[in-house]
Amino acid sequence: MSEDAYKKAFERERNARKEAERITELKSRELFELNSALKLLNDELELRIKERTSELETARNRAEANTKAKSEFLSMMSHEMRSPLNVIVGLTELLDQRELEEPEGGYVRNVRFSALQLLNLINDILDLSAIEAGKIVFESTPFDVTYAVDQVFKALEQRAIDKGLTWAKSVPDNLPVPLQGDASKLNQVLINLLDNAIKFTRDGGVELSLDQLQNRGNEGEVWIAVEVTDSGKGISEENMDRIFGKFEQENTSTRRVHGGSGLGLAISKQLIELQGGSISCSSEVGKGTTFRVELPFRYEGRVSEDVGARDWSQVNLVGLRLLVVEDLEVNRMLLRQMLRNKGIVMFEAENGKESLEVLKEHDVDLILMDLHMPEMDGIEATQRIREGRVKRVNAEIPIVCLTADVFKETKEAIFSAGMNDFVTKPLEMRRLYQVLSHWRKQIDARNAALS
Ligand code: ADP
Repeated sequence: MSEDAYKKAFERERNARKEAERITELKSRELFELNSALKLLNDELELRIKERTSELETARNRAEANTKAKSEFLSMMSHEMRSPLNVIVGLTELLDQRELEEPEGGYVRNVRFSALQLLNLINDILDLSAIEAGKIVFESTPFDVTYAVDQVFKALEQRAIDKGLTWAKSVPDNLPVPLQGDASKLNQVLINLLDNAIKFTRDGGVELSLDQLQNRGNEGEVWIAVEVTDSGKGISEENMDRIFGKFEQENTSTRRVHGGSGLGLAISKQLIELQGGSISCSSEVGKGTTFRVELPFRYEGRVSEDVGARDWSQVNLVGLRLLVVEDLEVNRMLLRQMLRNKGIVMFEAENGKESLEVLKEHDVDLILMDLHMPEMDGIEATQRIREGRVKRVNAEIPIVCLTADVFKETKEAIFSAGMNDFVTKPLEMRRLYQVLSHWRKQIDARNAALS
């Protein structure tokens, strides 16, 4: 290669390298700038995320505070509204047992039914709020499903008869007893279905049937199917999905003609599904409707205890020394009436403070303790007893709470204060006898061990 050509080639190569360096430098700078911009963007994004997180946290705190306020409001209202209603339900139950002549007997049943309806509405709203807050609790107590269904069936019978409807029930007589589960939630669903069946049927009748699903479920589980069939107006195909929604009725004239809030089926569905069961509906317009519920219960075999006994009024409570702590005289009177002729020695106190005074003076086997009371509430009184601060009293004395409150928090508070059990208001004789006889047995067993 000539010297000239060599120089040129060298020059070309140098220029090319320079160009490459320039391009590299340019690209590096661009990359650097991009990186800086990216970092800026990143910082900004982080800042925004922080801001948003804090906004969301504030919103969540506010929502939680709102839910808490709503819960507290509902809990308070439920107490205020349920107390007088409980009295009406309880007293009309007592009146009804006197087997009054007609038409007075019918009047009493109607008053009782209306009070129960009101209680139901309050319970519906409370339940919905508890379900929505994820706070619904299911009881697991032994009960006799045949008896429970029979009670609901009897309670609504008069309404069906008044409407001129046939009212039939088919229940096999070998259903396992006792099942373990939430009898009051089952009642609630049944009342809703039977009430609807009567409401939407003009001619013909309503039939309730109960059955055990064979070969279903795990060991220790019993599945019960309940069907409510009516020959009423039916539900159209396109409305079938809507009826299980909240505040949903088939059409706007339903409320005008039949009343109701449109909450019943929505709550029933949630209550059933939360317990692992299902509800379905089949219907033909103008012909009638069948609602079918399938629900699992625990079954631990037939126990010899009188849990399954049908006639709870036969329970032996003679000699039981019972302290009733309740601020409302009418409720104390109701308990006096319910426990009359049982041979129970009953002491009474109007609030927690007074109960401690009574306990200093008298030996008592069992305490029925209301929650909300003036001067000292049931929680504080229980805590004092459990701390062993009350003279003469065994700190382990069984305490059963009387409560109208269905909230999980309340139930947790009851047990963490040291109470052993609870009975919900309105007081049902059967449940009261059941609880008293359960604790009577524990007390007798303890005394036998001590002697
Ligand atoms: P409510 O009874 O308070 O209206 P529900 O949630 O219990 O509320 O029922 C929702 C709607 O479903 C009712 O308004 C009615 O339109 C329809 N429905 C429920 N049960 C029946 C029935 N057995 N026959 C005909 N329609 C029914």
